[in-house]
Amino acid sequence: MRDIALYHGDDHGWIEVITGVMFSGKSEELIRRVRRALIARKRVQLFKSALDDRYAGARRISSHDGAAVEAIPIRSGLELAELAHPTTQVFGIDEVQFLDESVVEILTLLADRGARIIAAGTDMDFRGEPFGPMPQLLTRAETVDKLHAICVVCGSPATRNQRLVNGQPAPFEAPTIQVGGADSYEARCRRCHEVPSATRDQTTLLDTLMAEPAHARVLTAEAVRKG
Ligand code: ADP
Ligand code: ZN
Repeated sequence: MRDIALYHGDDHGWIEVITGVMFSGKSEELIRRVRRALIARKRVQLFKSALDDRYAGARRISSHDGAAVEAIPIRSGLELAELAHPTTQVFGIDEVQFLDESVVEILTLLADRGARIIAAGTDMDFRGEPFGPMPQLLTRAETVDKLHAICVVCGSPATRNQRLVNGQPAPFEAPTIQVGGADSYEARCRRCHEVPSATRDQTTLLDTLMAEPAHARVLTAEAVRKG
């Protein structure tokens, strides 16, 4: 992973987001960046969503010279704000997608005050749709790194979270967050990602596109050149 060149010092706050599918190495990358901040003797606070223990994420990060930081479990952006120390220079947040929208405002405020924010979270829910505060956070971030995993079905780069319930793809209508459920997750590519639906007609858009009238103009490079 490339190093962050933009971040210059203590009074230049900004937001880095590490995103992508589950198992893509977001926590690993967050840990790497936080460890380097510890080596640089920055004052670091680490947070992670308290939502679900199954999402292991970052817990305790230490550097070789003995500096260490323990992840503080939080339930909301407000809780982060309450626990944020005024002298903290670097805030690491893991599983940020599980926090409420208030986290966007809180992290923006902390960055405005000069803190470096490193937030890791998956950008899509199991349906492949935007997850919680992630779209807002991605828009406001100075840097975004979108990581890929390996599709467990075909071996291509994986970009989607596949939820399975008893080994079967979870339906579109299932809740976004299923705490303590019997579900499991796999990293998959767009082609291998499956989201069955009883109520949503997934063929409608495809049918519309296929039914495009024959006279519809096909824009070729030649047509563009000719105007
Ligand atoms: P994330 O925080 O994005 O969920 P982690 O940093 O917790 O990811 O885990 C990344 C590690 O998961 C990889 O280094 C690899 O060892 C392991 N892993 C398990 N399944 C896969 C997969 N399908 N593709 C890539 N890495 C995987
Ligand atoms: Zn695949």
